[in-house]
Amino acid sequence: MDAPLDRSATWPYEDGEPGRFSYARADHPTGVACEEALGALDGGHALLYPSGMGAVTTVVLTMLRPGGTIALAEGAYYGHRVLFDHLAPWGVNVVEFDQTGLPPDGVDLILVEAPANPLLTMPDLEAATAHPASVVCDATVATPLRLRPLEHGCDVVLHSATKILAGHDDVLAGVTVTRDAELRDRLHLTRRFTGIVASADTAWLVLRGLETLEARLDRQEATTRVLAERLRGHPAVTTVRYPGFSFLVSFDVADGETARRVERALRTIENATSLGGTRSKLEARHRWEGDRIPTGLLRLSVGLENPEALWDDLEQALAGSDMS
Ligand code: PLP
Repeated sequence: MDAPLDRSATWPYEDGEPGRFSYARADHPTGVACEEALGALDGGHALLYPSGMGAVTTVVLTMLRPGGTIALAEGAYYGHRVLFDHLAPWGVNVVEFDQTGLPPDGVDLILVEAPANPLLTMPDLEAATAHPASVVCDATVATPLRLRPLEHGCDVVLHSATKILAGHDDVLAGVTVTRDAELRDRLHLTRRFTGIVASADTAWLVLRGLETLEARLDRQEATTRVLAERLRGHPAVTTVRYPGFSFLVSFDVADGETARRVERALRTIENATSLGGTRSKLEARHRWEGDRIPTGLLRLSVGLENPEALWDDLEQALAGSDMS
């Protein structure tokens, strides 16, 4: 790889003054190399964080004032809701809305998700960006190869790079990308002052992941299309949610008990949380999200394995759960 892994925390001053890099909480060379690559993908100024949630926290601290309200897409990553509720003592309010339509009046920040994890609805970006509030689009599942929200007028693109951008389930990372350089600088100040800073190792692993992003996404998506189609015809499956692209599909079986049985019957697909990695993972989401989702909802993140091996595993795990 072109970018060297420089783990230094400090660099000598140049001629008695701090140079481009002096202390790694501000910037470090591997991080900047990674940010250049991420910025080029989304068409803006990228900043790297030690997790997707670190990125969201930085956005909220920078873009919302105490007493402000965030409009959050229904069915979006439940961790966003959990974080905003946790920040209530700091004056963060949240309302949820159906992101396929207009955001509510009177809110100060809008967070949509493309597509929402795990309900896999797509936001109406035209409606969201017509609202006077700033719009943040979590495009973790879409990736910049399938959607570039800045081109649709969004103010910030957000990614959990832990997922398909890094792609190997061996690093936590987050990203913001903005078109506006002044907003990037404000986010950068919050990041620097709070220390929500990704390490050089994190940046290096994200860069390594980006080298294969297109090949991984193409293959994972092609397999997901096949599996989604077959799941639609399976007698044990009631609903299949798949927006027609990406590596993520969610489907419902009869109830929570059936979902837990399917989890335990898996042999090839890992019964594990997270998404976007090279290895397929399936999880009953009700254990985390409670009644905001159906009890029998299973989320499948499709990896690089042989598609027929994945289908065989799903078929044997679903056997005996027929609704017919
Ligand atoms: N956004 C989405 C869509 C996610 O699925 C996740 C994690 O699952 C996050 C953000 C949070 O990212 P991280 O786990 O890297 O903090």
